[in-house]
Formats: sequence, C-alpha cells, structure tokens
Amino acid sequence: MDKTHDKVWLNCLGIIKDIVEWQHFKTWFEPIKPVGLKDKILTIQVPSQFFYEYLEEHYVNLLAKTLKRELGKEARLEYRIMVDSGNDKNKPLTMDVPGHGFKTYSNNEMDFPLVINNPVKNPFVIPGLKKMQIDSQLNPIYSFDSFIEGDCNRVARRAGKTVAEKPGSTSFNPLVVYGGVGLGKTHLAQAIGNEVKRIHSHKVVLYVSSEKFINQFQDHSRNNAINDFIHFYQMIDVLIVDDVQFFNRAEKSQDALFAIFNHLHQSGKQLILTSDKSPKDLEGVQERLLSRFRWGLSADMQLPDYETRMDILEKKMKNDGLDMPKEVVKYIAYNIQSNVRELEGALISLLAQSSLNKREIDLELAKKVLRNFVKTSSKEITIETIQKMVCDYFNLPYERLLQKTRKREIVQARQITMYLAKQFTKNSLKTIGEHFGGRDHTTVIHSCQTVKDLMDTDGLFRESVVELQQKVQLAAM
Ligand code: ADP
Ligand code: MG
Repeated sequence: MDKTHDKVWLNCLGIIKDIVEWQHFKTWFEPIKPVGLKDKILTIQVPSQFFYEYLEEHYVNLLAKTLKRELGKEARLEYRIMVDSGNDKNKPLTMDVPGHGFKTYSNNEMDFPLVINNPVKNPFVIPGLKKMQIDSQLNPIYSFDSFIEGDCNRVARRAGKTVAEKPGSTSFNPLVVYGGVGLGKTHLAQAIGNEVKRIHSHKVVLYVSSEKFINQFQDHSRNNAINDFIHFYQMIDVLIVDDVQFFNRAEKSQDALFAIFNHLHQSGKQLILTSDKSPKDLEGVQERLLSRFRWGLSADMQLPDYETRMDILEKKMKNDGLDMPKEVVKYIAYNIQSNVRELEGALISLLAQSSLNKREIDLELAKKVLRNFVKTSSKEITIETIQKMVCDYFNLPYERLLQKTRKREIVQARQITMYLAKQFTKNSLKTIGEHFGGRDHTTVIHSCQTVKDLMDTDGLFRESVVELQQKVQLAAM
C-alpha cells in the first residue's frame, strides 16, 4: 500500500529532528506542510519564496537523503510556495516548483515537471486548450530583417538574436530591453518572438503587453481563478512582457508576475521584458521583482544617429516600394531626431500629402509637411521657461519679475513675459496671472494690449520682443 504524504513527511522529520539544531528545526522545518504525494514526488508547502530558496541552499542534501530513505531512489521533492495567503475574497495563491537539488535523483525528462493542478484556462481564448494551440499574439511584420542595427541599439539587437537562437539557454535571461518611446523596444521584442517561432517551431511563444496582463489578472482575481491564470503563463516557453513599467501600483499583478517569472526561469524558459526605464530606475515595482529583472542582461536603446535614421528611412521605403529624391530623405533624417516612430510618421505624412495633392515629392513639399510635423511634435513650452528666458534676456533676477513694483523696466519685462506666455502656451489668462504672484486675468489682458501698443510705437521695444519671440520659438523646437 502507498504511504500517505503525512506519514512520509513525519518519518522524514523524525530523522531531520535528530540532525539539525532545535532552533533551526523550529524555524525551517516546523512551518512546512506536506500537501501531496504522487509518483514518488512529495509536495511540501512552504511559506515564501525566500523560505524555499533557503531550504534549497542549506538543506537540500538532507532532504534528499531522508526522502530517498522513505520512497526509494526515484524520490523527488516539489515545493508549493505561498505567494499570497489570500483573504476572504481571494483564494490563497501558490506556485509549484521542483526541487533543484533533486535533479540527480531523477530521470532527466522529468527534471522540470510542469505542474498543473486543474485544466488550464487560456486567458487569451477558450478553456481546455492544448499547449500548441496558444496563439503567440505576435505581429509578423516585426522581424529582425526590418529592424535596422545602429550604434543606438546594437547590443540589444545582437542579444535579441542570440536569445532567439537559444531561448532559455544563454545568460541573457531575462533579456530586458529598455529605452524611451518610439525607439523600437516593441519591434525588437516581437522580432525575437517571431524568430524563435521560425527556428524552433515547437516552442510556445507568447507576447503580452503589461496592461493586458494586468487586466487579465484582475479578471481572474475577481473570478477566483488566479491559479488558472498563473498556470497558463507557466506553460509558455518564451514569454515576452512589453512595457513592464506599467506594473507600478499593480501590487497583486506583480505577485503573479513574480510567481510566473520564477517558475519559468527555474524551468529554463526564456523571459523577455521591455521597459521605458532601466530596471534600477523603475519605480513602484517590488524590489524582489527588480532583482529578478537584473539577473540577465539589461540592454538599452538610444536615439538613432543621423546615419541610422537614413538607413531606417531607406529600408522603410524599399519595403513599401517607395521612391523619393535623396535630398528629401536626407532632409527628413536630418530634421526628425526625436525617435523612430516620428521618423516614420513624417514619411507617412509626406506620402499622404503628395498623393492627396497629386504632387511629386520634392524638397519644397517636404519642408512644408515637416513644418507641421515639427509643430505637433514640438516641446511644450511652460510659463516658467518663458519667465526664465525673459529674465536672462533683461538680466533680471527671477524674483524681481514677480515683485510688486512700479519700476518701469521690471513692469515692462513682466508685461512682455505675459504676452509671450499668452502667445506660446495654451494656458488661460487666469493661469498666466497666477504665475505672476497671483495677478488676475484683467492684468494679463492689459499687459498684452500694452505690449502690442508699444510694439507699434517703439522700435527698440519691438526689436526686443521679436528677438525674444524667436528665442522662445527655437526653444519649442
Ligand atoms: P517602442 O516600443 O520603443 O515605443 P516601437 O517598437 O513601437 O517603439 O517602434 C516604433 C516604430 O519605429 C515602429 O514602427 C518600429 O517598426 C520602428 N522602428 C523602431 N526602431 C527601428 C529600427 N531600428 N529599424 C526599423 N524600424 C524601427
Ligand atoms: Mg512599445
């Protein structure tokens, strides 16, 4: 007759108790609960990840030996880690991981069993799926081929390529790609996924945005199905999570990601994450998650330089079968420096304008289109920026601008500042007034009128204002 898990564990404890010090026994062994025994795998529940790591580090041999005595040499141990002890609304959340220290005692195929307690519901489609039916949610247009390499992204791209060739078996696990908006993080992450599918067709790849992951988690949490959710993700071979900065403030979702991350990582599966900041600067994300993120490689994406911008534009045109004069391409590459998305946006606007107006693309049209484009993508100028510029220009200390004084030079500087604030920001008259020591909107109207009048009558005054206008305009570009 088979022994029960309680009995097996009790016998193990009997031996362990004699070997380890009493205090250690109380700390590390008493809190353990045996929860299952199947096919010579004893599952024990431990209170935390840390607890599990501690046992694996310090007591794995002892555990292996005692368990082997009980169950024979095929004996193996599995941990059920309490990730969240739950409350009256949510069931406790646990995660099952194999005991690594037992590897040598098992036949290798079963080294990393995927433990699924219940049939798993796929949060993306329908319940009752098989592993192979998981749709990767990848967009096939994102490939390595269409992803131009430059100094700005070389490390990330090459690491991505390596990961795609040997998912889970390089030290780039996780691979974290980080950088500002529109620099190609999503493109690269998806290209890795597509490449894995091409080279290793049996691997299960899944791309998910952090928002989607968090939404799914919250749905499952409402339906008391968090375990299903976690188990689904634990089936993935290559998991891509885009924009992990959105996990800030989503505490519970972070716990789920943590459980999934650990399981996948321990099972030799690949994780790819993108973020708008380096893992060390991510705010609102638990330190234990961040420390996991730093286990592998963090590669940043920078702004592309002029050469790379040219390459990207030319590649895009070639892919889309477009043609335009080289000087136009150069003009775009030279003027759009913010990011790749805007570079593409400029190209598309230009094409749209040319076909709408049935006009050839030439430098003149490009200049016209880019003027609009630069305007919409330009920096937001604030009242404070303008105040500082005016103070600089007139050599005034900043505090003086706000002082209640009738000194002409200060009054005029203040009036010009209000006038420029009205012209270059979207702030209301009321808001502008508030930035000048709480003056009301009629004062702002009066100031603007005075400036206009003076510009008409006083040449020198006019020159100053025009010069300042140019400075503000430049700062906004
Ligand atoms: P992010 O996720 O960093 O905000 P995306 O991956 O969405 O940026 O990239 C924005 C756009 O720029 C996409 O259309 C993408 O294909 C393109 N892109 C970015 N980097 C490159 C590159 N190195 N080569 C070609 N296209 C790029
Ligand atoms: Mg993105």
